[in-house]
Amino acid sequence: MPFLLQEIKMRICAVLVTSPMGKTYDYLEPEGMGLETGDYVLVPLGPRAVQGVVWGFPDASEVPASKMKSVIQKYDVPPMDETTRSFVDWVAQYNMAQRGAVLKMAVSVPQALEPPQPLTGYILGSKVIDLNEMQKKVVEVLSDGMARRLSELSKQAEVGTSVIKTLLKHGVVEAVDLFAKVPCANPDPDFAHKDLTADQTKAAAQIVEAVSKAAFHPFLLDGVTGSGKTEVYFEAIAECLRTGKQVLILMPEIALSNSFITRFSSRFGVAPALWHSSMTPAQRRVTWRGVAMGASKVIVGARSALFLPYADLGLIVVDEEHDAAYKQEEGIIYHARDMAVVRAHIQKIPVVLTSATPSLETLQNVWDGRYTHLQLPDRYGGADKPEIKILDLRVDKPERQHFVSPVLRDEMELTLAKHEQVLLFLNRRGFAPLTLCRTCGHRIECPKCTAWLVEHKRTHHLHCHHCGYSMKEPEKCPSCGDTDSLVACGPGVERIADEVKEYFPDARIMVMASDVLDTHQKLTSALADIREGRVDVIIGTQVIAKGHHFPQITCVGIIDADLGLSGGDLRATEHSFQILHQVAGRAGREQLKGHVYLQTYNAEQRVMQMLAADDRDGFLAVEAEERRRAHMPPFARLAALVISGSNETVTRDVALTIGRAAPHAQGVRILGPAQAQMYRIRGKYRQRILVQADKKLDIQKMIAEWLGHVKIPSSVRVSVDIDPQSFV
Ligand code: ADP
Ligand code: ZN
Repeated sequence: MPFLLQEIKMRICAVLVTSPMGKTYDYLEPEGMGLETGDYVLVPLGPRAVQGVVWGFPDASEVPASKMKSVIQKYDVPPMDETTRSFVDWVAQYNMAQRGAVLKMAVSVPQALEPPQPLTGYILGSKVIDLNEMQKKVVEVLSDGMARRLSELSKQAEVGTSVIKTLLKHGVVEAVDLFAKVPCANPDPDFAHKDLTADQTKAAAQIVEAVSKAAFHPFLLDGVTGSGKTEVYFEAIAECLRTGKQVLILMPEIALSNSFITRFSSRFGVAPALWHSSMTPAQRRVTWRGVAMGASKVIVGARSALFLPYADLGLIVVDEEHDAAYKQEEGIIYHARDMAVVRAHIQKIPVVLTSATPSLETLQNVWDGRYTHLQLPDRYGGADKPEIKILDLRVDKPERQHFVSPVLRDEMELTLAKHEQVLLFLNRRGFAPLTLCRTCGHRIECPKCTAWLVEHKRTHHLHCHHCGYSMKEPEKCPSCGDTDSLVACGPGVERIADEVKEYFPDARIMVMASDVLDTHQKLTSALADIREGRVDVIIGTQVIAKGHHFPQITCVGIIDADLGLSGGDLRATEHSFQILHQVAGRAGREQLKGHVYLQTYNAEQRVMQMLAADDRDGFLAVEAEERRRAHMPPFARLAALVISGSNETVTRDVALTIGRAAPHAQGVRILGPAQAQMYRIRGKYRQRILVQADKKLDIQKMIAEWLGHVKIPSSVRVSVDIDPQSFV
């Protein structure tokens, strides 16, 4: 029998705690606490005290009054608004995640709720003096506008604290109270406006109008790299700032570069507030509070920035919407681009997706009339599009154990002679993806994953790119014990660098890969080296493909255009087209004409042909037709169940049991269970089941009922991936 409010004379509040739990818990509100829905509170849960948010005030509770515990404390921060709370509920429901776990992403820094003690941080001051090399490093680190503690700054700039103190004395660096300095408090919408071209004006006007209407309105801002999409959405941001509301710009993590921040600062007079994985807890705390209080106006962040409790959000921009990095694959599995559209819908605000190579999903939404299509067909300033040539490796053969074809090599030579830059793209880190024994044929594999170990010359180690396992390069074959029998097979970027050194001994070569540029700092300085012409040949993985602007790169060589096509992934061709198109877009911006060379063994393949013909929409139309026929997204829904565990047999049996319990319903197809392509990761065995369903079906409900009938032992994990992007 539930207790009624009158009987206990105290208010009951339902609190969602920041722990992986789906339901709210009921607590008594101590007299005089004056709680409201959305308030941040501390409550007892079992033996611990945990943070949570008041989700509502139920009239009655299943918990008897005598057993009900009281709220311990209410935090002095503005309550989480209704839109953020609805968003948390929605994300949890859609992605089949625990609501409390989603809330945890929104609260994200527990200390942020506590009133801050003063904490000294350092920022750039207004004075300019002649700087020595060490001082320059400090200024460079601080140029992103973020305040840092003394120890942090000295570590990141790799200088002693005395260098910083000298700069402080000269006013080049200033001390501030970290918590008093709200990031991006007063960006000026009219600080430095650029005159837009006719196409830009037309596009900007439509977004600006939507911003002032404050209604849900999704846009695809579609234009080649360098067409000025950023300038267009800057106008929309300016309009949003005039209405006093906040703006969120989502970017793939890797694209969060200083050049964007500098550009933003020169447009709006201050740096934006940042949110990304390499921020320290103190910086997060400052940003979180600025966002929650509504004082920070523009937030530029990676996908998790979507969950911050904005006080008054007025516009969301998702830059490079097609980027695979928007899909979070671990913990709560969600697609930040899709969730951004949901948030905009709940919040009743416009959302702008930008891309030069929109995803098929997004373009289909345009074709179906759900998104407004804004197009910028030309590069700003009339720079020509690069010319794309297919190099058929069957004809234009590289030398033995080499990977650059003679034609590409000649083009590189011509480019270097003109003192222009060359970019070689190969989406593979390390020296060689496979080490093979010539005597016994043994391939060196990761002991914990279904994966070969990748040789890294730089560290003289073999590394697993899935679990981080590494071993010293063996001198003998681990299987037959033969010496001098191990050979490197296939290229990684390091091997291409060696080859280029052989051809052009005087060229200044830079390798750009996530393991080499493993900090924001290194990436930033590498980008500066390229921009300022201290490098001749850049050899990069996909790190290079993102929106950087390098006016002196005029020759782009794609070492292995076929690489992304293998693997049988639903979106393999689409992603391959996108990445090659993005890389090609690095060639020849501004005054210099760009040339792109695609090395391939599949010269007739659609991706190559359509790239060379510069027919993106033709490519996507064919792709769409294939997906429609195969009853695949965006024309149907998919969900993947990944069943994993350390015991091979138990894991397989659980997968089989789940498979046998699968629903037999109209419009649903169940594929599997089957061993995952990556059968082992980090010592865990993995089985997959793919669910394919008609669009109108409630796939979440179906899966929840299905899994509800199966007993799953605690040693086995079943994770549900709605709208999967990865099929390994
Ligand atoms: P995208 O975002 O489409 O890649 P950007 O906005 O980065 O393109 O524009 C490419 C370059 O052209 C940038 O250097 C930008 O400052 C410049 N640019 C674009 N539009 C204008 C404009 N209207 N006036 C002046 N410069 C512009
Ligand atoms: Zn491994």
